Amino acid sequence: MKKHDQDFMKQQNRLTVFEIIKHNQPISRASIAKQTGMSPTTVSRIVGELAERGYLLESEQVSVGLGRRSTLLEMVDASVLSVGVELDRHQMIVGIVDIQGNVVCSGKYPRSAEESPDATLKLIGEKINQLTLLHEIDGNRVIGIGVGLPGIVDNDAGVVVFSVQLGWKNVRLAERLKEITGYEVVVDNELKVKALAEHLKGATKGSSRTALLGFGNGVGSAFIFEGEIYRGKTNSAGEIGHTTVDPNGMMCDCGKAGCLQTYINISSLLSEANKIRPMRTIEELFEARRAGERWACYLIERALMYIAITVNNVVCMYNPDSVILSVELADKYPEVYEEIEELCMSRFVWEPLRESFSIFRSELQEQGVMIGSGLLSQIKLFELE
Ligand SMILES: [Zn+2]
Repeated sequence: MKKHDQDFMKQQNRLTVFEIIKHNQPISRASIAKQTGMSPTTVSRIVGELAERGYLLESEQVSVGLGRRSTLLEMVDASVLSVGVELDRHQMIVGIVDIQGNVVCSGKYPRSAEESPDATLKLIGEKINQLTLLHEIDGNRVIGIGVGLPGIVDNDAGVVVFSVQLGWKNVRLAERLKEITGYEVVVDNELKVKALAEHLKGATKGSSRTALLGFGNGVGSAFIFEGEIYRGKTNSAGEIGHTTVDPNGMMCDCGKAGCLQTYINISSLLSEANKIRPMRTIEELFEARRAGERWACYLIERALMYIAITVNNVVCMYNPDSVILSVELADKYPEVYEEIEELCMSRFVWEPLRESFSIFRSELQEQGVMIGSGLLSQIKLFELE
């Protein structure tokens, strides 16, 4: 075998052992050898190398049945860190996550909607510096930055192609943020990284087919199939908000009439409500519903119905084992979850498929995008040298 090939093999073996420990910890050397088919000597050598670099720690444990002592290996969670960023119209969340997706530290910062991309990216750089200083983060352990945002993102090129919420078009985000911070950067659509986070760490751990549906200022979805984000040709799979529901319906901000999101998203509900009486926030609409005003009941119940219809459509198209509902309004009005689930199971989900999946609520809530962005950057950027 050539030297080059030997190095490659060694590298692959190291990575295999690393991944096995990460996903099965605590684990013994013997189990690793058994799972990989590598010799005990090879496993011990690799474990020694990984421990020397600070990735692993050993602990002596007595197995319950036999009373025998064995040494088990665990990851040092903080041995690999990355920055996760959620970017939205009026605020951003910047955090540092470890190899298991635990949040080491994070902060939430206001952002003005008119801010230029460059100003925002500089602000992100400042916040990362502040966090690492304040929490005494070892910068050498930080392997990169992940950014999640609403809109169409070319994830390979790291370019924000188009984001209505941010008002950005063709922004070379990864390249520019790398210039500012020095770190490698990955960028993706917010729902895709949120689904990844829920799959790796939140509501649907262990699921092999997760669909996440997001309802808020926009409507969208994301799919994790066999651990991978389903992207489609231009990373736009899941943009269900712009599926046409009624060609004679209301105008959508995309310039088409009757898109699904015109029945559900917060701005559409508010503009409909304002035809009846002046109203600035969605809370006022919910108050009107609580007070029994029929038009308010109609608007909200119609939105919930379209959410249930969306669940059915997605379930019919993709046959997932898990559906995560991420409903922005539900933070304040948790009862909407129950109403949606009731509508799904009693009326809208096609009967043969009702038992085929479980409905979950987002577990990571408002930290989901930040955690998912951080974890995605680890998946893309982490390399064992
Ligand atoms: Zn539209």
